[in-house]
Amino acid sequence: MNIVRVALDLPLPRLFDYLAPDSNESDIGRRVTVPFGTGSRTGVIVQLATASEHPDAKLKEVTGILRDMPALPAEWLALCEFCARYYQTPLGEVTSFAQPPLLRRGKLPRIKKLAAEIAVTCPRSGIPGTQSEPAPTLGAVHQPALPRLMAAQQAAVAAIFETAGFHAMLLHGVTGSGKTEVYLRAIDAVLARGGQALMLVPEIALTPQLEGRVAARFPGAHIVCANSGMADAARARGFIEALTGRAQIVLGTRLAVFMPMPRLQLIIVDEEHDASFKQQEGLRYSARDVSVWRAHQLNIPIVLGSATPSLETFHHASTGRYRMLELPERAVADAMPVVRIVDTRREKLQEGLSAALLAGLQQRLDRGEQSLVFLNRRGYAPVLACPPCGWISRCQRCAANLVLHLADQRLRCHHCGFEALIPRACPDCGNVDLLPFGRGTQRLETMLAERFPEARVLRIDRDSASTPKKWQALLATIHAGEADILVGTQMLAKGHDFPLLTLVGAVGADAALFAADFRAPERLFAQLMQVGGRSGRADLPGEVLIQTEYPDHPLYRALVDHDYVRFARSQLDERRIAGFPPFSFQAMLRAEARSMEQSLAFLAAAREAAEALADGVTLYDPVPMRMQRLMTLERGQLLVESVSRPALQAFLAKWMEELYALKMPGGLRWHLDVDPLEF
Ligand code: ADP
Ligand code: ZN
Ligand code: ZN
Repeated sequence: MNIVRVALDLPLPRLFDYLAPDSNESDIGRRVTVPFGTGSRTGVIVQLATASEHPDAKLKEVTGILRDMPALPAEWLALCEFCARYYQTPLGEVTSFAQPPLLRRGKLPRIKKLAAEIAVTCPRSGIPGTQSEPAPTLGAVHQPALPRLMAAQQAAVAAIFETAGFHAMLLHGVTGSGKTEVYLRAIDAVLARGGQALMLVPEIALTPQLEGRVAARFPGAHIVCANSGMADAARARGFIEALTGRAQIVLGTRLAVFMPMPRLQLIIVDEEHDASFKQQEGLRYSARDVSVWRAHQLNIPIVLGSATPSLETFHHASTGRYRMLELPERAVADAMPVVRIVDTRREKLQEGLSAALLAGLQQRLDRGEQSLVFLNRRGYAPVLACPPCGWISRCQRCAANLVLHLADQRLRCHHCGFEALIPRACPDCGNVDLLPFGRGTQRLETMLAERFPEARVLRIDRDSASTPKKWQALLATIHAGEADILVGTQMLAKGHDFPLLTLVGAVGADAALFAADFRAPERLFAQLMQVGGRSGRADLPGEVLIQTEYPDHPLYRALVDHDYVRFARSQLDERRIAGFPPFSFQAMLRAEARSMEQSLAFLAAAREAAEALADGVTLYDPVPMRMQRLMTLERGQLLVESVSRPALQAFLAKWMEELYALKMPGGLRWHLDVDPLEF
């Protein structure tokens, strides 16, 4: 009897057996439509069998095996199986997530046309279509004039191909040190051998500039983009082109790690420290970590690049597990920007800005250069308050304040999206003199426009760049030199060259120094380093001013010295003492319910179930999450930790079975986050 075992997108950790009389070996990895309940579903065939654990009479027959495209390869299934195991997620949820929406939904009437489509366009940027056939020597042929590699770049490229097989490298170099050039050379070498290359970048760094740079370097190559913002048809087409081997280069965000690529020979993860590589919902995977696993499984090299590597990666590179490749100099500008600390303890600031920063802004205006004031908080003010009675604007659904947005006259929750009009008077006491407290980008923008009436002030944050189109328009304005002072959040920190920008001022950075999250300093350092790296490219020297009340803080001192390594070592020392990652491995069980009592009770039961299983694993107590309430749901968390990853993994696998069996009050939802980034 021919039986197929199917992974279905259901929150159940098992496969589903169906009769499939006409199935054969070549159907493993094919999509299949099956009856389920009263409806039908599409899943992926992961195994064949001749007998089922279920009584045969109860087995239903598949509706149809979809043979409209090549089967997903064994390597792809293995990748999904690894994710299912490692992230404790049902395989069907993983295989479903790992496919583009059009494919996971079932039969595609026009799939043939998609697969046969010749022209490749990157939908977001409109990179013109190129030839389709893979020509193994393409990479080497149509080269525009290339810069001569610096010695360190040369050494890095050589290291990538020095040995065959799996090896992981950390390419460490500041912005402008020529990392991308190294990636392009490595990709070139891979194309010349007829291989495929995969390059992952953070969400925000996947810009038309980057796509354009890759396309310009490989004018004859078949390049495919993959990100969640693409139209369904384009995503499906790219996926199929990768699967058939026609795509030579795949450039994408985290989800691109799941692109099936039969001749994959190199993986690059740029800005590997970026938090957007970790998905925060559904399948909570780290695309960086999954990439390393995939490279290992395929026995190919992987390059992780960053100016400020994650401490996990830096630790691996320091202990020799990864190879460290350093690019110590900038490729074009001759000097790093000068970083200065502005001690604001004894100064009366003007709307949060120091005299030094104001003078710097004036000077850049006089010279016709650009400045950026970096403040990682959007809106006008974080809260609206009534001083006489103590009322403050709070979200009704979350344990959070409503942020004042004067630009469109709203109070807005940055967590759940709740919006309200700004009240004319205090809802509690009727006082009409409500005051904004604190400062966001809108307020800075207003203040700067008043203070420098001759300047063109441009705000760049998720409100002003709410769509890719607006974002591109803002970038174009900056590039055209049509803005003098930029006010922006971390949106501006990554992947953009602003040749006219010579001054960066960072304000409000101190808050992150003492945040409860042990990763906050790591993020702050990366952000400031990155935002500072925007200044002083080309032939104009850059300057970075950091306003702080803690001028002697080691984090700022390391920034002044451009000394990532010193900062990283001191952070790693602290983490070692505290037993935090990378010196331990963590998983977080989170629960949300209508009451905190229910959430914590569930977590307590989960902890009890864990006690007998927790060999070499530390169980912490269930506690309310820092943001206790989100969208009216009360949230709790339970941290588990081990110094041994295998011990933690073994524990989690057993624990999950218990968790699925636990009784839950109606409305309670829980999930497990392996290697959580957020606390
Ligand atoms: P990163 O990715 O580290 O920010 P890039 O590779 O983008 O650095 O290089 C920064 C700039 O320097 C780019 O304009 C690039 O074309 C140029 N560049 C890179 N390597 C060299 C080189 N060896 N000689 C001259 N220019 C280079
Ligand atoms: Zn809210
Ligand atoms: Zn009041």
